[in-house]
Amino acid sequence: MAKSSGELTPLMKQYWDIKAVHQDKVLLFRMGDFFEIFHEDAQTAAPILGIALTMRNKKSADQTPMCGVPHHSIAGPINKLLAHGFKVAICDQIEDPKFAKGIVKRAVTRILSPGMVFDPSTLDSDQFNYLCAVDKKHVSFLEPTTGECFFYSVSEVAEQKKLVQTLNPVEIVGSRQEIEQLKSLLEDQFVFSVHEKLSSAQVVESAQRLISYAVSMQGEDILKTLSPFEEREYESRLQLGPDVLRHLEIFRTYKGDIKGTVYEAINNTLTAGGSRRLKQWMCFPLRKQEKIEERLDKISYWLKTTDVLTKIRQHLRGVGDLERKIGKISHPNSHPRDLAALSLTFRELKEILQFFKEWQPALKKVQFWESEIDRILEDNLPLQYRDGGLIRRGVSDELDELIDLSTNSQAKVLELEAKEKALTQISSLKVRYNNVFGFYIEVTHTHTSKVPLDRYQRKQTLTNAERYTTDELVELEKKVVSARTRRSELEVEIYQRLKKDILLDMPEFLKIASFCSELDVITALSWLALENNYCRPEFSKDFNMTIASSRHPVVERTVSFVPNDIQLSKNECLLLTGPNMAGKSTLMRQVAVVAILAQMGSYVPAAKAKVPLFDRIFTRIGASDFLAEGLSTFMVEMKETAEMLQQATENSLVILDEVGRGTSTYDGLSLAQAILEFLIVNKKPLVFFATHYHELTRLAETHSTLVNAHMAIHEDKGELKFLYTLLPGPATRSYGIQVARLAGLPAAVTKRAEGLLKKLEAAIDLGNGSSPNQLDLWDQEPENVEAPPVDPKMALFLKEMQNLPIQTMTPLDALNKLAQWQIELS
Ligand code: ADP
Repeated sequence: MAKSSGELTPLMKQYWDIKAVHQDKVLLFRMGDFFEIFHEDAQTAAPILGIALTMRNKKSADQTPMCGVPHHSIAGPINKLLAHGFKVAICDQIEDPKFAKGIVKRAVTRILSPGMVFDPSTLDSDQFNYLCAVDKKHVSFLEPTTGECFFYSVSEVAEQKKLVQTLNPVEIVGSRQEIEQLKSLLEDQFVFSVHEKLSSAQVVESAQRLISYAVSMQGEDILKTLSPFEEREYESRLQLGPDVLRHLEIFRTYKGDIKGTVYEAINNTLTAGGSRRLKQWMCFPLRKQEKIEERLDKISYWLKTTDVLTKIRQHLRGVGDLERKIGKISHPNSHPRDLAALSLTFRELKEILQFFKEWQPALKKVQFWESEIDRILEDNLPLQYRDGGLIRRGVSDELDELIDLSTNSQAKVLELEAKEKALTQISSLKVRYNNVFGFYIEVTHTHTSKVPLDRYQRKQTLTNAERYTTDELVELEKKVVSARTRRSELEVEIYQRLKKDILLDMPEFLKIASFCSELDVITALSWLALENNYCRPEFSKDFNMTIASSRHPVVERTVSFVPNDIQLSKNECLLLTGPNMAGKSTLMRQVAVVAILAQMGSYVPAAKAKVPLFDRIFTRIGASDFLAEGLSTFMVEMKETAEMLQQATENSLVILDEVGRGTSTYDGLSLAQAILEFLIVNKKPLVFFATHYHELTRLAETHSTLVNAHMAIHEDKGELKFLYTLLPGPATRSYGIQVARLAGLPAAVTKRAEGLLKKLEAAIDLGNGSSPNQLDLWDQEPENVEAPPVDPKMALFLKEMQNLPIQTMTPLDALNKLAQWQIELS
């Protein structure tokens, strides 16, 4: 912690004065060529940045933990800190150390927060970087790196929460009071920033707050790369909560991977903007049929025009992250190379825009700026652009003159060097330049006796040489230095002007970028349909669902998939029974995925699909499937079910998988039955209900909308084979013990289970009213089931195989071992 200022060095006093104002941020403190991080900040930052934590003033009582990063490679470390949810204050030297009297003046020149990234090119290209603000009636989002701005009109707190969780912003901004409320609502899992001010823009309050915050962090220029705030429809969308996205493994698998998700399976986009847009479409599918058909029409068009589709996809590949490239131009840290990168993108854009009549005026603009950037900026732009070397000759007469002057003066320096060599007869004499002493003549000590001291004035003595200047050299220096300084000033001026002019056209570019992202998604979905034989979905007015040869887009990539025909009428519930591993979950999930794909305007993995337009999808996947998530509590299951039972409507799709498994059998069965009855009697959505509770199948006798079905199994002498075909009627048995045997449970256990099951089946018949309490399974010892004798040769072989040091074996050793076993066994 801070020490009393009396004991501090002036430098540390300066540090603590600045830190006191920025306690909630990691302070990067510029010292020479490094940004140093001290005290707790250093302890926080060092492990994140993977750099060593050292001690300043190690032996004294004033020892200070510290770590540092070179000033020229600051972007990476800053982004790492931001990605870990920290805010960062950059404290720079604000006067030239050469002219500083006493300690160099320092001040915080920039503040960065997770939402206001330092260098957008280091972000994950398919992740959004949303800032979010919430007011009483709206939830607003602003993506500073892509310029996307939108809001939803939602006033119900639970819905607002769901929306925030679905879009998962990197930072939430609000007044102190709002932030306190949001923190308790969202359980502190987000980065919050208090910002009281509102902008005067004519937008909703939460959007005003976001604009004001973005400007306060990045300056007014950011306004030029933000699209106007648009209202997005919330109510008339297919609503998918974060749980549904998780249960259906849309963006993450249960293990947290991207591989194996629906998003990964269908994502054929070629640009970063496209992949982000696809995510958006998946999070918020539509409900208005005309809008969905509009997207589907576009896909149908591309499927008929595959030659142009192929060409466009080739050029899309070169577009890269157009939205972020545009966003970067407004950044205070932007570099001329960012403009050059934009011009390269424009080259590909021209090729794409030429195919679209309505984009011809935009094409002209793109052409103009591409040639303008090429005309003005050099090909190889220097990293340190403030020293010049940016602007081509021919752009400005004044600059050309200055370039001539600084290049000619180079020749003049060489001329002067030759002249002095001749006059002094010192062949090793050199005329050189450095930043501290300017131009000087250097003569080694061996030759100093030959130096004409009437003309030469000594400037500096080195161990093996003396440095001098002359009046003529001083004159030359003045000319060269002023030409150089003026040249670099003018070059930066021209660059800034170019940037400012381009920024004026940003609204146009943002529209083009948005068009490209959408084009990428549509052409990617067309490609998906083409490659994987998807069909155009139709929408049923009567709320019936018919899907012929339906597949699951993820599972079909890894197994030889058995397609299924699924048919369900309005208000019906398909009750699926059958053993584990028979394909029940896959079938139910594929129905939900088909519904999502259809409503986001994509073709679907089926031969034919006629589906209702759902208002919501609810999923409840049995607790046992969530062990890995640590969410396996029965409480969570019931909470989600409660929400579903409240909110489901006749227009919803409800997927329930093994509900009630988290408690005792009879509790679970009773709850499952009550839930099912409530759904089919009171709520009447379209339901897919998979269960182990066979007893539920009898409900079909009293409820006409309950349709029994099962996944086909072939059983031959106790051996099970899964056929993955959906058949009408309930499953005859659960086959739990056979599945356990397949999974390798010891014979002793499965035999004992079979014995117990026989007794249970004999004793229980829930239909005839006998009570399970009358059962007494504990009155007998388990039968002593002898394990079959093991062949000693086999046992030896198994032991050897178990202990094989695979890690250290070469493939050849392994092959030899296999060959040896084969011989021994035959
Ligand atoms: P359940 O829910 O009945 O326990 P799952 O739906 O989890 O069964 O399916 C188990 C496995 O069976 C899946 O991981 C998949 O490999 C395979 N499977 C499921 N459906 C099919 C199908 N239609 N065609 C081929 N394999 C399938």
